[in-house]
Amino acid sequence: MSGSIPILDGHNDTLTRVCPPDEQPRHAFLRRDTKGHIDLPRAHEGNLAGGFFAVFVEGEDKSERRMVTANDGTQVEALCPEPVERDLARTQLESVLRQMAELFNEADGAIRLVRTVQDIEGCLADEVIACILHYEGVEMLREDLSDLESEYHRGLRSLGPVWSRSNAFAHGVPFGFPCTPDIGPGLTEAGRELVRRCNDLGIMLDVSHLNYRGFMDLAELTTAPVVATHCGVHAICASTRNLLDDQLTIIKETNGLVGVNFHVGFLRPDGTENADTPLGVIADHLDYMVEHMGIEHVALGSDFDGAKMPDELGDCTGLPKLVDLLRDRGWSEDSLIAMAHGNWLRVLGE
Ligand code: ZN
Repeated sequence: MSGSIPILDGHNDTLTRVCPPDEQPRHAFLRRDTKGHIDLPRAHEGNLAGGFFAVFVEGEDKSERRMVTANDGTQVEALCPEPVERDLARTQLESVLRQMAELFNEADGAIRLVRTVQDIEGCLADEVIACILHYEGVEMLREDLSDLESEYHRGLRSLGPVWSRSNAFAHGVPFGFPCTPDIGPGLTEAGRELVRRCNDLGIMLDVSHLNYRGFMDLAELTTAPVVATHCGVHAICASTRNLLDDQLTIIKETNGLVGVNFHVGFLRPDGTENADTPLGVIADHLDYMVEHMGIEHVALGSDFDGAKMPDELGDCTGLPKLVDLLRDRGWSEDSLIAMAHGNWLRVLGE
């Protein structure tokens, strides 16, 4: 039975890789490729059953390293991406969604946009890749949210208010190490309304990339479980992108979930982007989360196609190796199933 458990994954940037604006590399997803981390043949080989496919607006990618002051007064050098205009974000969103629809046509039923938990279960039964549509940062939305409902109707089921930059709704964490995620203020008034409206519509809110005060505001307001689709443990790797112990406690208390991120810079205790990183470090983050929150609050959130993977994992074909490693560490089959897909189905159901 080695590695045969289907995996739902909290985050990938595959749409950004295979559906970029003004290019047509969609075929890269349909046939086996050596670039990137996910395509159809490799997904089947790795038992990757689907997950959250992110729409990410690249903007003009003006990031700069500069000193930022955390809320406790400490200064740290961090990579700070610049905000993106709504018109540009809207244009990029439309381009990605148009290409995504064409891609799904070309895939001839092998990947499906899912809108309900029943849809996902149908995909698992049919061995069809389940695509949960996620917006990573909502720069494309109007501040009055008059366009949110139409995004829901076209398939949006999950969103992160921010990527690692500021927008009308919230403030993302810049990329810093070692550094606290407690940088900058909490949600804006529009951000608070976004939380309420997502709760009403049934759109999952993702706190990955959100700063600490934004996380706390969201956790206080939301009536849904608090979910981090692709984060790690700050106590192991002190990146701004990872969660402090009190954040893990809140996630547990709201019956939420964390998908552990495989990016080596968010995994390694030294914070370096060194791909020579053993798979055991991913297991260390998972074991820490299980100890602090319990198995029902732990999942995977690879960041495939958006981050630097450990060489030992490589791409999504390496997922069974990770499952085997956890089994060797004493994880039961029930625990493995919960982590691999059961917990995502529970949280999405709520
Ligand atoms: Zn991300």
